[in-house]
Amino acid sequence: MKIATSPIVLPGAAIGVLGSGQLGRMFAIAARRMGYRVHTFSPEGDTPTGQVADVEIIGQYDDLDAVRQFASNVRVLTFEFENVPSGSVEAAAELVPVRPGGAVLHIAQNRLREKTFLAGNGFPVAPFAAVRSVEDLASAVESIGLPSVLKTAGFGYDGKGQTKLRTPDDVSAVVAGGVREELVLEAFIDFACELSVVAARGVDGAFVDWGVIENVHSRHVLDVSVAPASVPPDVAEEAVRIARGVLESLDVVGVLCVEFFCTREGKLLVNELAPRPHNSGHLTFDACVTSQFEQQLRAVCGLPLGSTRLLRPAAMANLLGDLWEHGEPDWEAACAVPDVKIHLYGKMHPKPGRKMGHLTALAESPEEAARIVIEARARLTRDRTGIQSADRQ
Ligand code: AMP
Repeated sequence: MKIATSPIVLPGAAIGVLGSGQLGRMFAIAARRMGYRVHTFSPEGDTPTGQVADVEIIGQYDDLDAVRQFASNVRVLTFEFENVPSGSVEAAAELVPVRPGGAVLHIAQNRLREKTFLAGNGFPVAPFAAVRSVEDLASAVESIGLPSVLKTAGFGYDGKGQTKLRTPDDVSAVVAGGVREELVLEAFIDFACELSVVAARGVDGAFVDWGVIENVHSRHVLDVSVAPASVPPDVAEEAVRIARGVLESLDVVGVLCVEFFCTREGKLLVNELAPRPHNSGHLTFDACVTSQFEQQLRAVCGLPLGSTRLLRPAAMANLLGDLWEHGEPDWEAACAVPDVKIHLYGKMHPKPGRKMGHLTALAESPEEAARIVIEARARLTRDRTGIQSADRQ
């Protein structure tokens, strides 16, 4: 089959999404609102994306025939999960445009490739070294020093596959266990804050961004995001300049998030790239003229990009499975906070650490939005635990 030649994919057409989590779900909500049909492909059924898509296909990402069959029924393909094998993306790309392209995916799938790309293109990153053997580890620790963080090069996200090395004993423990996969050692950064820039690029090279968002992580997982970030204007400008450079260097079509560490001296270091809508951009759904999900749709369909204007300062708090520990959270109590919006992803099993949903609050200031959203989240479990009930009295 030939690749469709029209550069613009108009409402009514079917869009394919590889992956089926909450990012695909929110993309599907935005796409269906604009009259598109959504097909999702992943190894599971009754998924967060599948529940709102028109068509849910269950298949393995490395089953090239299944991926080809899926691609042949859509006008453009995107993904919400970057660890799709590159061979599958190439197979799909023979039939239909895949946006962003497989080359972006290939770089972002592996920390070492990503950091090498960033450093090679002059983007600031923490000192790092490849570790493929215990001998490599010794020389990497020698050059980078302690404390440092050892991360798996492939398939790592939300702090999975990370070990902080504080002392020579920590290094010896890793040496004793052996090095069985490709790792990256990077300097531990005593950052002042973590920031992200979610940005998008159209088929025609148009660039937009949602400004700088401030992120607080808990146990390596994003906890709260606040927009706009409280950083000096020159830091904000520099963050957007770097993000723009990254999207342009990678020739991205779609949304990409650049996560940064900001040091106490105001220096920015890129920590990670996510070549898709990102958790820190969820607040754009309620707080901006165009959300990151609608923008992803516009970009991959070749439509003009929408305004990213922030309507009001906003904050987002993730809802992890831990909140279900003492039973169903008290949704009524959170709804009783009038400026808070509840987003739930339709996941059946609330495991600890699993992202089940998020809350967004809009307010007069980012600080106030953060206060409201954290308070609303606390209300979800206040009557579920002895300690928090006591707090209330
Ligand atoms: P990552 O999966 O690499 O995005 O890491 C998740 C979180 O772990 C980051 O957002 C930071 O809070 C923390 N972290 C990761 N790498 C470092 C580092 N080199 N220095 C300090 N904190 C880090």
